[in-house]
Formats: sequence, structure tokens, C-alpha cells
Amino acid sequence: MTYDSNNIFAKILRGEIPCKKIDEDEHTLSFADINPQAPVHILVIPKGAYCDWADFAATASAVEMAAFTKAIHRVAELTGISKTGYRVISNTGLDSHQEVPHLHMHVLGGAPVGPLVLAKS
Ligand code: 5GP
Repeated sequence: MTYDSNNIFAKILRGEIPCKKIDEDEHTLSFADINPQAPVHILVIPKGAYCDWADFAATASAVEMAAFTKAIHRVAELTGISKTGYRVISNTGLDSHQEVPHLHMHVLGGAPVGPLVLAKS
């Protein structure tokens, strides 16, 4: 997949549209999802132009990967859900229903998130 620099998260990274920022470092930005599916629903994104998890795993640097992993943990700490628990989800590829083609992790918590929902075969 070719990266589309007009996607909504690229616009957030460029400051063209606002977000409710939770955390930022050299390689990552974390902000509240506009349509939260749990009391805490944060999106963690890399600043690099990666379409999805497959793209990131194949081409990101080790430094970017480490920063992304640490950002997810930091967001859980900052939002107070690290002790009660949370779910991390990334939709990747056609079957996943990924809507925004810039890699993002959903970090969900603040209440029991229920069983993992899987598609029926
Ligand atoms: P996906 O389906 O790609 O895994 O998830 C995309 C997520 O981005 C959705 O949960 C949706 O609510 C969120 N989203 C879409 N547009 C915006 C926006 O403009 N701002 C923020 N903060 N979240 C957005």
C-alpha cells in the first residue's frame, strides 16, 4: 500500500486539524479518539509515514519501534488504566476494517472492555 499523505492522522501530525493530545515524543503522538469506544480510548501513532502494522514492522527503524512500544505503555500510565488493565488493538489490511491508513494502536480501558470480538467464519 502506498502511503496517502492526505489521511486524517497525517493532517493531525502536520497540525492542520486539532486533536486532544495525551502524549508526544520525537517519534510518536498520542491523542483521544474522536468516537471513543471505552471510557479511555487513545490512539497512539508513529510520526513516520507508515500505512499499517505490516508496513511498520517491515520498514521502521528499531528506534521507532521501541519508541512506539514505550508510548503505548506511557499512555496507559498517563490515563490511569495501567493498573486496572486495557486492550491494545491495531487494524491492519482489508479484513480488519482499518479506516485511517496511518498506523495507529487503539488503547482502550477505564472499564471492563468485554470479550474479544472476532468475525464469524
Ligand atoms: P481504524 O478503524 O482505522 O482502526 O480506526 C480509526 C479511528 O480513528 C476510529 O476509532 C475513529 O473514531 C478515529 N478517528 C477518525 N477521525 C478522527 C479524527 O479526526 N480525530 C480523532 N481524534 N480520531 C479520529
